Amino acid sequence: MGEDTTIIQRKRMVAEQIARRGISDTAVLRAMERVPRERFVQPDDLAWAFSDGPLPIGEGQTISQPYIVALMTSLLHLQPTSRVLEIGTGSGYQAAILAEISCEVYTVELIPSLFEQSRKLLISLGYVNIYSHLADGSPGWADAAPYDGIIVTAAGPELPPPLLEQLAEGGRLVIPIGGRGHQVLEVHHKKGGKIHREVNIPVAFVPLRGEYGWK
Ligand code: SAH
Repeated sequence: MGEDTTIIQRKRMVAEQIARRGISDTAVLRAMERVPRERFVQPDDLAWAFSDGPLPIGEGQTISQPYIVALMTSLLHLQPTSRVLEIGTGSGYQAAILAEISCEVYTVELIPSLFEQSRKLLISLGYVNIYSHLADGSPGWADAAPYDGIIVTAAGPELPPPLLEQLAEGGRLVIPIGGRGHQVLEVHHKKGGKIHREVNIPVAFVPLRGEYGWK
């Protein structure tokens, strides 16, 4: 695939799958056009890199559907000065999208091979504002807290309590919560020291493991 062809395909992906479904945040739309999604999928799946669904990334994990990446990112209400925590680096695609929009991204992955692979790819693409960690991210990452945004890209049975503590005043936390097969996307907004919870759409994510995830 040539450079020009992939840019055209990314623009079409954004127009047809994301903008058309109602996401209008221009920072998110531009980031989705810029980040080379084709580099984050497995070589065998190159032809499906811009398709309207999730794809396997190895180790039984998946890179989310482009629309879900855009939706979760827009729900964070990020600014260029925001510091963000992602739990579940996977391919690194969501981290790259966050890094296009905000100033610092902290991302935590539990599986060593995915951690190594995504870290190398993000460095080779020139992302100097992404800090990758190999750890159980279900208790968050206290060292760099508080965060203006926290995004969990695996589904837990319940909201890990430390994540709310690591959220800055005015910050937003986006996480799929529910059973192993199906969940709802929840948004928790910290305002005046209180947490306001909203439920967004039904989703299907791979399980969050670790201390506050599925055993
Ligand atoms: N955001 C990713 C998709 C991730 S799939 C992307 O853009 O490609 C979910 C990821 O969460 C998997 O890589 C899985 O290994 C990871 N994960 C599951 N439980 C975790 C935990 N407790 N801590 C850190 N990562 C976890």
